[in-house]
Amino acid sequence: MKHYSTSEPVDAVVIGTGAGGAPLLARLAAAGLRVVALESGDHWNPGKDFPTDERAQEKLFWNDERLSAGNDPLPFGNNNSGTGVGGSTLHYTAYTPRAQPDDLCIRTDFGVGADWPLSFEQIEPYYDEIEQFLGVSGPANYPWGPTRKRAYALPPLPINGAGQLMERGCRELGVQTSPAANAALSAGYYQEGVGHRPACTNRGFCQAGCNIGAKASMDVTYIPLAIHHGAEIRAQSYVTQLITNSSGQISEVIYIRNGQEERQMCQYVFLCAGTIETARLLLVNELANSSGQVGRNFMAHTALQIWGEFDEDIRPYKGIPGALISEDTHRPADANFAGGYLLQSIGVMPVTYLSQMARGRGLWGADLKRAALAYNHVAGINILGDCLPHDHNYLELSDEKDIRGLPKPRIYFSNGENEKQMTVHADKLMRAIWEAAGARNVWAYPRNAHIIGTCRMGNDPDTAVVNADGQSFDIPNLYISDNSIFPSALSVNPALTIMALSLRIADRFLERHRRLD
Ligand SMILES: Cc1cc2nc3c(=O)[nH]c(=O)nc-3n(C[C@H](O)[C@H](O)[C@H](O)COP(=O)(O)OP(=O)(O)OC[C@H]3O[C@@H](n4cnc5c(N)ncnc54)[C@H](O)[C@@H]3O)c2cc1C
Ligand code: SF4
Repeated sequence: MKHYSTSEPVDAVVIGTGAGGAPLLARLAAAGLRVVALESGDHWNPGKDFPTDERAQEKLFWNDERLSAGNDPLPFGNNNSGTGVGGSTLHYTAYTPRAQPDDLCIRTDFGVGADWPLSFEQIEPYYDEIEQFLGVSGPANYPWGPTRKRAYALPPLPINGAGQLMERGCRELGVQTSPAANAALSAGYYQEGVGHRPACTNRGFCQAGCNIGAKASMDVTYIPLAIHHGAEIRAQSYVTQLITNSSGQISEVIYIRNGQEERQMCQYVFLCAGTIETARLLLVNELANSSGQVGRNFMAHTALQIWGEFDEDIRPYKGIPGALISEDTHRPADANFAGGYLLQSIGVMPVTYLSQMARGRGLWGADLKRAALAYNHVAGINILGDCLPHDHNYLELSDEKDIRGLPKPRIYFSNGENEKQMTVHADKLMRAIWEAAGARNVWAYPRNAHIIGTCRMGNDPDTAVVNADGQSFDIPNLYISDNSIFPSALSVNPALTIMALSLRIADRFLERHRRLD
């Protein structure tokens, strides 16, 4: 790997190496720019560092304390964001559906929320490119959304136990299903600049890190590509300050590595630290916030889970956790809410399952023991649905300090009427599916998932933090690329769209850069 001097300016510093940071890092490096990525977490070696052990793998989560407030305070840690080279993709489940065109215009269609300043057609070529590069496995004919221009790179992965039962229940009710698109390899795959990645062995511990590299986390895909093209990755480098010069541009980034403060001079900064840390860094440094929107418009997907017990031996730890999908509920005809949701089958690892039983269902003693013994016979379905940007959901800096002496973020979250109505709709449907599939002891686990918003993109500098190219309205050499810039939550999992925006932001930046040269 190349090493750049800290005393000479590099072309760009990229802060954070997750879904938003890694693709653009590779793109900028491939264009010949001198780029350095600063990543707070470790650079792991999956084969050595990712055992099949949930507790050992808690190291993949961002476990610094965050303060949760509101009527539905969100759990952080393993519920929401990761750390390490690869960011949250180290522990994501690798479900990679595309957004649908109308996901981007919820205000136009329903009069609530915010439209995207981009059309589906502007994002679609990046979906195509990323699915080929990552080796996304998916069906030959995906039933929802616009006709695809390119087929998925590989055929779908095997459907796990929960998926098979969900298919049975949906068939009974006339709900259409399909094998999901997963960024995990159903066959060995070779990529120039990255090398060979082996096929998924159905180990099922994707949320504890894939130790063979079959899952397309950034550390085994875009990061090696970035290094191949000359990027430097500095792990264990926690950014604390962005220093501006007399013309208001960022000229230096200050970070802590091995307990020491280091500085990197640069021409451009790409802030890709995720919904919470990106907003926190800007608020701490009092930057890019003339709109007053930094920290606002915080969203988290409506994500109710419905579980049931079955006679069949399901073994919910086996196979890719999310194997089956339905988007029949994308815009339900009988909806009394804006937007929509998708349905996905879910697998679960044993410790996660038991902590849900204890914390989510309040089981203890003999009841908890009975639930534990039923583990191999449980299956779940969850939804991921729109969440509107409400005024009452936001991030602020608290008076409490973390171990580095920086203010801890406090995040307010309360589901609004729209999210509550959607949850009621989905609860009824998923219970009917499980009943039709033969479940007993059905229970609900209400939750919100995926943190989104806080630095919204838009066309108006009074209501948005960055423009459609991810560029700050206030600081021209600052770009943001992560899930913080989504104007609306979308009714699908976010990672593929974050990566697509990342490549687009890099391409738009390079076009501009070439014009300036
Ligand atoms: C259990 C779980 C399963 C999921 N499964 C799916 C799924 O199946 N499909 C899907 O689409 N999405 C899934 N998600 C969500 C998805 O993983 C995230 O939305 C996405 O990865 C976020 O990308 P990001 O680039 O915005 O942030 P991240 O990937 O979180 O990257 C931010 C990076 O910045 C680093 N960082 C933060 N602050 C600093 C700082 N000050 N200095 C230096 N570095 C810093 C962090 O360490 C981190 O590596 C899942 C999430 C969870 C929690
Ligand atoms: S199920 Fe496949 S992708 Fe997931 S951890 Fe196992 S081998 Fe990796």
